[in-house]
Amino acid sequence: MSASQLIKKFDIDFTQEVIDYASKFFEDVENVRSCIQCATCTGSCPSGRETAWRVRKLIRQVQLGLKNAAIRNDVLWDCTTCYTCQERCPRLIPITDIVRAVRNIAVRNGFMLPRHVQVAGLMIKHGHAVPINDEVKAVRKEIGLSELPPTVHSYPDALGEVKKLLDETGFTKLVEEASKGVQK
Ligand code: SF4
Ligand code: SF4
Repeated sequence: MSASQLIKKFDIDFTQEVIDYASKFFEDVENVRSCIQCATCTGSCPSGRETAWRVRKLIRQVQLGLKNAAIRNDVLWDCTTCYTCQERCPRLIPITDIVRAVRNIAVRNGFMLPRHVQVAGLMIKHGHAVPINDEVKAVRKEIGLSELPPTVHSYPDALGEVKKLLDETGFTKLVEEASKGVQK
């Protein structure tokens, strides 16, 4: 690999981008700079036992500015956000919060898994990620519940309000762009 190809792999602003984004919602994010790559996180990770997901690697990518490697990687979505790693990190790095921030940055750059686009589309269309069907209605009735839950299914007028919220937060636009494969 040539020097220029190598340089293109790095985005020197990525570490700060993650810190700035995550700091809007979470505390102690700056600690990510102090990771010592001890691997306690990956060794504790239930998802890592079943998948190719290695959270220590993501933290290293954030430290080094390897933005594309971090956000263009489907395994980023294999974390279940169980917080085990975050509770055990000896450097008190809010690891799970950082995973969530990197996922947000990935989506804002147009990287969303097709199944997430599909579920988000259902949310936009029906106000539910899992719309009701006859089978669910029958089960609800069988266990003594009303056929429809007290959500937009029972109050269809509220669907307009849900759509408005999704529009105004930018969610609808992000999903539309991701579904068209628009990447930034
Ligand atoms: S447990 Fe903490 S210090 Fe150790 S590798 Fe993971 S993030 Fe880094
Ligand atoms: S929060 Fe995610 S990365 Fe951390 S242990 Fe749980 S599944 Fe693994």
